[in-house]
Amino acid sequence: MVIHLKKGIDDGLISELVRELSAVRVRFNGTQILVTPSAIKNVSATVEPYVDEVFICNTDIQLASTEYRPERRQVAVGDVVFGSQNQTVMMAGPCSVESEDQINAVAEYLVNTGVRIMRAGCFKPRTSPYSFQGLRYEGLDLLAKVRDRFGLYIITEVKDATHVDAVIEVADIVQVGAKAMYDHGILTACSNSQKPVLLKRSFGSTLQEFVQAAEFILSGGNEQVILCERGIRTFEHKTRFTLDLCGVAYLKQYTNLPIVVDPSHAIGFAYGVPDLARAAVAMGVDGLLIEAHPNPRLALSDASQQLDFQQFSALSRSLSPIAKAVGRQMI
Ligand code: PEP
Ligand code: MN
Repeated sequence: MVIHLKKGIDDGLISELVRELSAVRVRFNGTQILVTPSAIKNVSATVEPYVDEVFICNTDIQLASTEYRPERRQVAVGDVVFGSQNQTVMMAGPCSVESEDQINAVAEYLVNTGVRIMRAGCFKPRTSPYSFQGLRYEGLDLLAKVRDRFGLYIITEVKDATHVDAVIEVADIVQVGAKAMYDHGILTACSNSQKPVLLKRSFGSTLQEFVQAAEFILSGGNEQVILCERGIRTFEHKTRFTLDLCGVAYLKQYTNLPIVVDPSHAIGFAYGVPDLARAAVAMGVDGLLIEAHPNPRLALSDASQQLDFQQFSALSRSLSPIAKAVGRQMI
């Protein structure tokens, strides 16, 4: 149950209500909100006088639910808005920051192509300790330089809580990776900031678990959350993961958060990325996250799935009419 309290209730009394209802206290734009476990569905007579509005939620998907807010939330990254209903935002760039030359080449290409948000990881959550782990803080410095020089917005990932503050400092969007979806150190740090957060679905999580992870960020006080479907693990081995477009339909129907699809990590091979990206745009998603690299064969991570610039440009051209057909514009 989400309760909006009446204005002007003093702090001591709110603390008592929190205790009585076993609630989490949230403040959004001056509104005092209490979120109880969803199993509580009634307001008692003692609490009633302080209540302005009550929203009953079926499950612990509460602040993110359409039962609470039927309209999609908007997350603004400067002048780029996710969740606007008529725009789909392209985010593209390499899996990893590898060198100054590489990241400059990508940035220059993206600016010329009209892409506003560049992705590139510095702290890489690799499966093997013997694979490239990312340029870490040096990579963040390079991203900060690129942002200033090319005017691009930056999305970059956080791997663990030790560097979350440094990433929040440099990034315009903090990417919480699939393997970090359950990391409460990261979720808490993101909830204490007002930075937009792109939360990727863990490849082993249900939709309920995924959105509940988003609830940790929302209920901690940060409303700037974007959900990202990036493929889940199934019995299938021919592709890296399985892109859950049913899940995307569910998220569109039952949550109020902007939804992004990452086809690159889902299929794991460049050949399938354009078709999946087009399918996602046809579903009316709020954004795409796509890996592109000046020379994918030489990429230090995720080489098989990154598009080269020619492939990316061809994909971009093909997306505009599809976006238009569903009442949107690619930006
Ligand atoms: C990435 O975006 O490069 C990445 C590691 O993604 P994921 O967390 O989805 O595996
Ligand atoms: Mn990658």
